[in-house]
Amino acid sequence: MKKFLSALLASALLLLLGVMLASCAHECEFSEDWSKDESSHWHACEVSEKCEEITDKAEHTWNEGKVTVKATPEAEGTKVYACKVCGYEKTEVIPKCEFSAAWSMGERTHWHACLTEDCTSFTDETEHTWNKGQLTTPATADKDGVKTFACTICGYEKTEAVPFTGYTRTQWSAALNSTVFENFTYTEKGTVESGGVRSEVESVYKFEKSKAWIKMTMYGETFEEYLAQSEAKSMREDLVSSIKDIASYSNYEYDAATRTYKSKKAVYIESLGLHSNNVTLKFENDKLTEIKFNVTYVESGTRVTIDEIITITDYGTTVVGSK
Ligand SMILES: [Zn+2]
Ligand SMILES: [Zn+2]
Ligand SMILES: [Zn+2]
Ligand SMILES: [Zn+2]
Repeated sequence: MKKFLSALLASALLLLLGVMLASCAHECEFSEDWSKDESSHWHACEVSEKCEEITDKAEHTWNEGKVTVKATPEAEGTKVYACKVCGYEKTEVIPKCEFSAAWSMGERTHWHACLTEDCTSFTDETEHTWNKGQLTTPATADKDGVKTFACTICGYEKTEAVPFTGYTRTQWSAALNSTVFENFTYTEKGTVESGGVRSEVESVYKFEKSKAWIKMTMYGETFEEYLAQSEAKSMREDLVSSIKDIASYSNYEYDAATRTYKSKKAVYIESLGLHSNNVTLKFENDKLTEIKFNVTYVESGTRVTIDEIITITDYGTTVVGSK
């Protein structure tokens, strides 16, 4: 009996020693390479093949996958995913394509797309068939309208701008009525090109009832001045009368394509003492906002070109300030 007990003790000791040999007889060192199975990856001890110590065990982190065989209506496809950490790959089956009954649509065409998520297969792609279109926002004198067209097959909609109609003589006169020109900012920018030499000229006139401020820049010099009441008044009257002369209704015809009013005959530009055959006007919100013209002439054998753009802004809101 005693012998039996000591034998038992001895084998227990041996067992303990075995376990100690397996786990504690060396200091574990882990491989740089990943060990992997279907679901996870880890670093295994590389000191002994028998050692079962591992570290860094984690589930695979799949990438977005890559279609290696595209599915078709007749055959399944395959998509391969790889673990971003260890590179382990798994393959998924992409079902045969089945196409949606509803239309998918783009700017130009419509098509039936495959119902499988991420599958890029499609069928029946054709260009839209547009209906006659409907005027959804009518054009006004100075604002474009909108015409909406729909595809008769898929319903996709597109819009087109309808050019505004242009001002009537009455609207034109109202925009140029003297009362409109009490308070405004007039900016004139000009480029003079003579014998290949270009120079820029800019003038800004600010009017606020009986106050005025002007600033002129030419040949690199700037000149700035506040005008006294009577001077301000006569300066404004001169300017308004020259605007009215240039912008006289009978000088222009409306061009819907460019939404501008183009001169239909030579227009006299008083400030230059010259005629221009090429003047365009723009109106916005019942106000004249832009006058553009160019003039070319020959002076003592030299060709001179003047390009001017006048903008009239801040109607009723211009602030002249004070000295
Ligand atoms: Zn180990
Ligand atoms: Zn992995
Ligand atoms: Zn598909
Ligand atoms: Zn369509």
